[in-house]
Amino acid sequence: AAKSAGRGGYRFAGGPLDRMSRERLAMEQGMREALRQGEFWLAYQPQLDLHDGHVLGAEALLRWRSPSMGELSPGRFIPVAEESGLIVPIGVYVLEQACRDACAWPETMAVAVNLSALQFASGDIVATVEAALAASGLPAQRLELELTESLLLSDAATVAAAVERLRALGVRFSIDDFGTGYSSLTALRRLAVSRLKIDRSFVMGILDEREDRAIVEAVIQLGRGLGLRIIAEGAEQPEQLELLRELGCDEVQGYVFARPMPAAALLEWLPQVVNASPSGSR
Ligand code: C2E
Ligand code: MG
Ligand code: MG
Ligand code: MG
Repeated sequence: AAKSAGRGGYRFAGGPLDRMSRERLAMEQGMREALRQGEFWLAYQPQLDLHDGHVLGAEALLRWRSPSMGELSPGRFIPVAEESGLIVPIGVYVLEQACRDACAWPETMAVAVNLSALQFASGDIVATVEAALAASGLPAQRLELELTESLLLSDAATVAAAVERLRALGVRFSIDDFGTGYSSLTALRRLAVSRLKIDRSFVMGILDEREDRAIVEAVIQLGRGLGLRIIAEGAEQPEQLELLRELGCDEVQGYVFARPMPAAALLEWLPQVVNASPSGSR
């Protein structure tokens, strides 16, 4: 509980909460500075066709190189960015940078960008995407936006309207971390998405856990029935790939092929895989 601390301020009763909110505030201020100073950067993780090994695209994953806190993963700072509203300007950076970077890739490759609910609620996501595409020259067909189930739940009508307008431009959508949220089936009926991403937590257990395997199998069947492509995230072992392929999964993204890497490293990584695939490069 807050107590009046004189001088017009409030003092919080000491303890862990106190320190947590101070850390949070420091991180928020750090992020504002980071945007101005260019401390954010994007790592890219390839997404491959499970049948012929072709590289279909890459997912843009936000990173923050902080001078004071070091290299930070999104799990640590995205929640603060979302609570503070900073995810909106940060999201503009991500879209612009991702579209620009993707222009250097083979034309057959798409870039996948993660979106937060707030980008729909308080940012003009349609205008932001249009501007990022226009500024980079990337065809809309090469951009895929990843939505989580909780995002779809947040403000269904607003999200649906924006998705429809972006789809009309040619942008595609996928549902991220599928199976971990609440609105899965309703969202699938309502929105025209093209891809389901099976969450890593299920993929991790497919070899040893009967339940995980059953869930993955069911999601693949569901996706097939709906005419959607299925991508498994977080595959780390060749044996998982084998089983995923057997179960009818279409695509995969995971450490087994590549970890997220800087844009320049992706360009070096690319030709090897493209040339090694049985159907060759374009
Ligand atoms: P996500 O969208 O589900 O991204 C996949 C996460 O799984 C990434 O973590 C990736 O590095 C990790 N991953 C992929 N393959 C493997 C694997 O084989 N093993 C393991 N252990 N991990 C694997 P990352 O980069 O830490 O991102 C975490 C989450 O942060 C993302 O989950 C996404 O929800 C969020 N995020 C990242 N970038 C952005 C962004 O630009 N905007 C927003 N709104 N969220 C972002
Ligand atoms: Mg994602
Ligand atoms: Mg995911
Ligand atoms: Mg995930």
